[in-house]
Amino acid sequence: MSLKIQNLSGGYAGIKVIKDVNLTIEPGQVVGLIGLNGAGKSTTIKHLLGLLRMQKGSISLNDVKLMQNPSEFKKMVAYIPETPILYPELTLKEHLELVMLTYGLEKKQAWKRAHELCQMFRLDNKLDWLPINFSKGMKQKVMIVTAFLANADLLVIDEPFTGLDPLAVANLIDLIKEAVKQNKMVLMTTHVLAEAQEVVQKFAVLNGGTIQIEGSLDEIRKFYGLKPTDSFDR
Ligand code: ATP
Repeated sequence: MSLKIQNLSGGYAGIKVIKDVNLTIEPGQVVGLIGLNGAGKSTTIKHLLGLLRMQKGSISLNDVKLMQNPSEFKKMVAYIPETPILYPELTLKEHLELVMLTYGLEKKQAWKRAHELCQMFRLDNKLDWLPINFSKGMKQKVMIVTAFLANADLLVIDEPFTGLDPLAVANLIDLIKEAVKQNKMVLMTTHVLAEAQEVVQKFAVLNGGTIQIEGSLDEIRKFYGLKPTDSFDR
């Protein structure tokens, strides 16, 4: 039971962006994928979600290979994008129902969980709202709620801490900690190391499309000669 990215190379229509990326996530592990703008973090995620064609390598989750069994693979993955993706014509309630259908969740139990999550993010009185009525931060919260509702084995989170109010950040951190206790795997990209440090056990640094080093934040700071007060992105 783990996520294994092996010798992954890929990018966009013939342009190689990531090269020989190797990354393993064990159950109960949160991995932070960091790196400068343009390092290839989002491209790696797009490969993991099956949105881009791999040029080389393999991705497997719990021994299910993405290339050989994409539908089974995708059912084990939930995604919180940096920019919320919602269906303009569906209400929040309908988005929740769609997740229940897609991930084959038992309805009664799923609705109990959906109400808990909506309450946590103050969305419980907005079930009939359409995306157009939500602010950007509220849309991000909807993405968080739907992703955690899915109860998938692997949670992929792109830049989770930007644009959220402090209460939502704290709630998200609590949900990630709860997911860890349930042996879920989490991959997050982030530039905000202070919050990430609370939940991330292993950071992997992408540099020019290749993972240059994996380790704790201290090990990474040492490798790059950064002081604890320095931001990684400087
Ligand atoms: P950021 O921190 O800014 O989000 P990132 O690490 O997520 O950066 P990517 O978005 O993966 O970086 O971009 C990696 C490289 O791929 C960059 O050189 C970028 O120009 C290129 N790239 C990204 N999207 C496309 C695309 N749709 N077509 C062609 N090249 C792209």
